[in-house]
Amino acid sequence: MGTNETKSAVLLKHHLKALKLPTMHGECEKIAGRCAQDNVDHLGFLLQLCELELIDRERRAAERRLKAAKFPSSKTLDTFDFKARPSVNKPMLVELLRCQYIDQRENILLVGNSGTGKTHLATALGIAACGRGCKVRFFRVTELITQLMEVREEKQLSRMRTQLSKQDLLILDELGYVPASKIGAELLFDIISTAYERTSMIVTTNLPFENWTEVLGSERLTGAALDRLTHHCHIIETHGESYRLKDARKRRRGRKTPPATD
Ligand code: ADP
Ligand code: MG
Repeated sequence: MGTNETKSAVLLKHHLKALKLPTMHGECEKIAGRCAQDNVDHLGFLLQLCELELIDRERRAAERRLKAAKFPSSKTLDTFDFKARPSVNKPMLVELLRCQYIDQRENILLVGNSGTGKTHLATALGIAACGRGCKVRFFRVTELITQLMEVREEKQLSRMRTQLSKQDLLILDELGYVPASKIGAELLFDIISTAYERTSMIVTTNLPFENWTEVLGSERLTGAALDRLTHHCHIIETHGESYRLKDARKRRRGRKTPPATD
């Protein structure tokens, strides 16, 4: 490589860095060498570099979205055993993975007892939404209420509300495990009503609708919250035995000597 070429390469890399094009910065020399070998013209070379930068940029953005969503674990529909949960309609879930409900600002309600896969399905849907470019935020309801109360004390509530209103999908997991205080219930209701017809929500709960008053306290708030959540809503019921229990029992049985006949 001549002095001029070296100088150009150094300057080019400097400019690519200043332009915040890290993949082009890292790959330009390698791709230039390959293009020279394959007789690819200048525009073809530039095209290859731009494509690499775009692919990498999308991958980095998807990673950022996943991290920002704060999922408790990584779950997909591929690892969900639909046979073990016949009340869950697989074609419906596969359709929901396409995220049209988010474009239409619709909600999803997952109702069923503990251990029946509600958090698993909500997380799988959330991860799919991140993959499609949506901004998602996952909360356990008790954590959300605690955070709302804290930011309210610090006079930062409007900032948090703005942040939440910028999301495409809010996942509220485990509504109903702990009865909220009156202020907590009002703060939660405020989030639900602000999201109504603007941001999609996935809510999971172990409570049948008639018991929601236990969580939100007042009949008025409960009625209004249910009204908003269920207006444009896909309801998935995960009836049956806890998967954790079933799994544990299966593993325990696996360790024992199997009976002669089953
Ligand atoms: P819930 O939120 O309804 O209490 P989870 O989604 O937390 O239940 O499920 C409990 C555990 O069992 C998780 O590890 C989850 O991945 C697993 N699980 C539940 N249902 C299924 C299923 N049908 N197929 C595979 N794993 C399941
Ligand atoms: Mg759960």
